Amino acid sequence: MENIKISLPDGSQKDLPVGSSGFDLAKSIGPGLARDAVAITINGEQKDLKDALPNNASVSIITIKSEEGLEIMRHTLTAQVLAQAIKNLYPDAKLAIEPTIENGFYYDTLFSKPISSDDLPNIEKEMRKIISTKSEINKTLHSKKDAISKFKEMDEHFKAEIINESEQVKDFQIYEQINSGFIDLCRGPHLPSLDHIGEFKLTKISGAYWKGDADNQMLTRIYGTAWRTQKELDQYLTQQEEAEKRDHRKIGKEMNLFHFQDDAPGMVFWHPAGWTIYTQLKAFMRKKLSMAGYKEVSTPLVVDRTLWEKSGHWDKYRENMFITEIDEEHANEKRVNALKPMNCPCHVQIFNKNIKSYRDLPYRISEFGSCHRYEPSGTLHGLMRVRGFVQDDAHIFCTEDQIENETKLFIELLSDVYKDLGFDKFKIKLSTRPVKRVGSDEIWDQSESALKNAIDKLGLDYEIDEGDGAFYGPKLDFVLTDAIGRNWQCGTLQADFNLPGRLDSTYVGEDGNKYNPVLLHRAVLGSFERFIGILVESYGGNLPIWLAPTQVILATITDDANDYADEIHAQLRSLNIRSEVDKRNEQISYKVREHSKSKCSIILALGKKEVNDKTVSVRRLGSEKTEVKNLDTFVKSLVEEIQIP
Ligand code: ZN
Repeated sequence: MENIKISLPDGSQKDLPVGSSGFDLAKSIGPGLARDAVAITINGEQKDLKDALPNNASVSIITIKSEEGLEIMRHTLTAQVLAQAIKNLYPDAKLAIEPTIENGFYYDTLFSKPISSDDLPNIEKEMRKIISTKSEINKTLHSKKDAISKFKEMDEHFKAEIINESEQVKDFQIYEQINSGFIDLCRGPHLPSLDHIGEFKLTKISGAYWKGDADNQMLTRIYGTAWRTQKELDQYLTQQEEAEKRDHRKIGKEMNLFHFQDDAPGMVFWHPAGWTIYTQLKAFMRKKLSMAGYKEVSTPLVVDRTLWEKSGHWDKYRENMFITEIDEEHANEKRVNALKPMNCPCHVQIFNKNIKSYRDLPYRISEFGSCHRYEPSGTLHGLMRVRGFVQDDAHIFCTEDQIENETKLFIELLSDVYKDLGFDKFKIKLSTRPVKRVGSDEIWDQSESALKNAIDKLGLDYEIDEGDGAFYGPKLDFVLTDAIGRNWQCGTLQADFNLPGRLDSTYVGEDGNKYNPVLLHRAVLGSFERFIGILVESYGGNLPIWLAPTQVILATITDDANDYADEIHAQLRSLNIRSEVDKRNEQISYKVREHSKSKCSIILALGKKEVNDKTVSVRRLGSEKTEVKNLDTFVKSLVEEIQIP
């Protein structure tokens, strides 16, 4: 019998009998792998584990332990288990689509009678029954005509419509559970059997139009989340619960930080308390940037369309731009402007007026740049997704040889900033050259390895996103982990070989010839708005004292302490400490509760004893303890404590 040759990801080769499947391959490598295998990748494409392997293919095995494996499990759970449970309980229901989403899946179904979230436990029960059969799942291939008639026979008209509208003409995949005979149409791959299904929970129900079109029928969408183990599921559910409690929109209300209204959707009305956080964060960033050698600039908000045409934004980005028109006083012509969606073209103008020689490079300019981008109203989400925002933006103009060192300096700045803000952990993602791109292979080679070398020199790890770079250069994304384990992509560094040339930026090199500089776009926080949302959620509103809107509340226990409170208040204010006095005739326990809710950092309780002894009773947010301190000692240490890091 002849053999086929298979290349494995580690570069080794395997000979297997003709007709061998991915499962045979896994078995030949080891029993552990065979147990965990759920699918395979053949020449970069995901396939079913039982598919026969072609000769000379490169094959890798997807296990349930990988992210890909987990996603396949979620897919099988919705397409085979949830679907069958729905059909068992509601035989009239018509099944539509069943994608996976982050952390889970959903299924859109047309029910003949409405169902509610009260029905979910019963559906879950039915799902567990189906899973307990551990049924094998087999796949068969069908012609278009055959596939359509199969689903029409079952009166599943959504499925028939999907097949009918597909450009594919043959090889429609139908998956069947051996035990029950339940079938579903699917692009696959699926688990080889229900044995690999982990732990799950159906989370909610909502409405969704067929094909997302409001002219079509409204279907019922059932959401679920699924994980490998009960522990993973519990962790996720706790994180969700915690995230709900910390929602920045809820805490933002309790702390009176900001609001939105329909007159300016997606644009923040900052209240005094929220604006204090904002200005403190800005002062912190200003200090860090200055120490890192950036020069701060400011550029116009409203800029003529001609510059956007030259930069390419008018062509590629106009849908997202706020356009303004103005009649020039003495001209008959209307002038068309756009609110800047990004600062880069304006910064290039400053480079062009200032820099002549290689001796002036690298040239680093920063701006707290106010940008506006039109985002569809359905995507707006509190501070996390807005239309008007301020970036901690900067551009570094440099030579190709300087990319590596500038990248290293940037990562050092970023990790210093994140650490001071309480985020010790972050991940780096490197996105490399896409198929459609500008610039020679040489410059891509050089800049990709410059980014890699910079990370290596700092002893950090990174993941590679092959082909995910912008058409104008490779990029780094920085993803931080918050206090409850959620990931947020905030920082970015992007090399650009395109814009300086488009906007006629040049410098004279050592050899006397003119060159275009490389442009590095970079941001540490991303936008102030979103970052404050992340800070508020990560700290649950209990911000470091230098960021806190109110640092000290002077709460009197008796009227005899009123003058003492006023005295301390005046002293703290003169030291630029943000304090307030609460002389209301209320119980001290009530005052403590109330000011804890608005997240004041320190509450000083002042009674007769404190007045006589010149002391203060200090209670910190989140602590049950009260400490009595000498007033002068307390003020001295507080001045140190509130300094911007
Ligand atoms: Zn930029």
